[in-house]
Amino acid sequence: MKATCWMGRNTVEVREVPDPRILNSRDAVVRVTSTAICGSDLHLYDGYVPTMKKGDILGHEFMGEVVEVGPKVSTLKVGDRVVVPFPIACGNCTSCEHGMFSVCENSNPNAGLAEKLMGHAPSGIFGYSHMLGGYPGGQAQYARVPFADVGPIKIEDDLPDEKVLFLSDILPTGWMGAEMCDIKPGDTIAVWGAGPVGQFAVASAYLMGAERVICIDRFPYRLGIAERAGAETLNYEEVDVLDALRDMTAGRGPDACIDAVGMEAHHPTPAMYAYDRVKQAARLETERPYALREAIMACRNGGIVSVIGVYGGVLDKFPMGSLMNRSLTLRSGQCHVQRYLEPLLDKIRKGDIDPSFVISHRMRLEDAPRGYEMFKNKQDDCNKIVLTP
Ligand code: NAD
Ligand code: ZN
Ligand code: ZN
Repeated sequence: MKATCWMGRNTVEVREVPDPRILNSRDAVVRVTSTAICGSDLHLYDGYVPTMKKGDILGHEFMGEVVEVGPKVSTLKVGDRVVVPFPIACGNCTSCEHGMFSVCENSNPNAGLAEKLMGHAPSGIFGYSHMLGGYPGGQAQYARVPFADVGPIKIEDDLPDEKVLFLSDILPTGWMGAEMCDIKPGDTIAVWGAGPVGQFAVASAYLMGAERVICIDRFPYRLGIAERAGAETLNYEEVDVLDALRDMTAGRGPDACIDAVGMEAHHPTPAMYAYDRVKQAARLETERPYALREAIMACRNGGIVSVIGVYGGVLDKFPMGSLMNRSLTLRSGQCHVQRYLEPLLDKIRKGDIDPSFVISHRMRLEDAPRGYEMFKNKQDDCNKIVLTP
């Protein structure tokens, strides 16, 4: 089959690789009909996630048709149409029983690697480094889905791929980012990052009853999409974000702040950008956490900082004093996607949300290398790319 392979920093290639097979009794094999490139894939592309190997198959947002099932998968049959959540989870461990699927205790065969960096290991994730299980991803013609009796959700009506594909990751992620804010009527929520994840966080915050949502980025076309989802917007290249947020909230600050940027934040001030870039390049910190620092400083006293942007390791100049002295709460996580599949599919069915609004480009799988470059460099107003194998 053809698959998108990580070949080193800033290089992906679509190559011929062996077809996946059933390895365990709870596996299924899915013929991929749609897959997407995520901001998280850029962290791999840019070489910031350790334990990638040349030839690793990328992709953790995919859906398709079941073509083979293992003997212990009674919930799926050949021909079913499914969306596959990005965290791989067993459904039986204590974490899974508590709905914490992205920290499943049984799905990461390389837990030891992750334990060295993080203390304990999170779940396995499709196409996301050996530290997170070394599973081949779904930017391919076929994918093996472990624990297929737990993760995939069947799509039984005629909703097109483009409306349901993002159940695999970014829609639930934006939703969880907003949910972690404990939104109450009248709340003002600020969202750093107007990428697809930030855009879904904006839409979710309104669905949860936020009164105002303010979204921060520097790309006018992305801020425009956030505006169409209802947000007020700030371009951090034009205004001082902390001053502007203070002005907009009568001096108090937003009730909750969502970081939908993660480890590769861009800085409006060249000196700070240089500081983090140099430290990151020298491996003295793994992150450039500018948006996170700003989100903490901006949040009102007693408020919540919700981190859905991805971080990999250790960071520097973390404003712990602000967090501690002002009674802030920090919440975070890779999305526990399985938890949100049914309720969000229901919202899509009812027309409460149509996630296809984030799509800017549709390409063939073979064009993935061009897609990664476009998405990374925000060329041609690139917002979200769907690939068809
Ligand atoms: P993206 O790269 O398309 O968007 C990121 C946006 O952040 C860009 O528009 C960029 O201009 C903006 N940005 C950069 N620096 C900024 C700053 N200082 N202030 C404000 N905005 C800034 O990525 P995406 O697909 O939207 O994903 C966003 C983040 O969410 C990534 O870190 C990704 O890894 C993460 N993610 C997390 C999960 C999860 O489960 N927690 C799931 C999916 C994605
Ligand atoms: Zn993703
Ligand atoms: Zn589990």
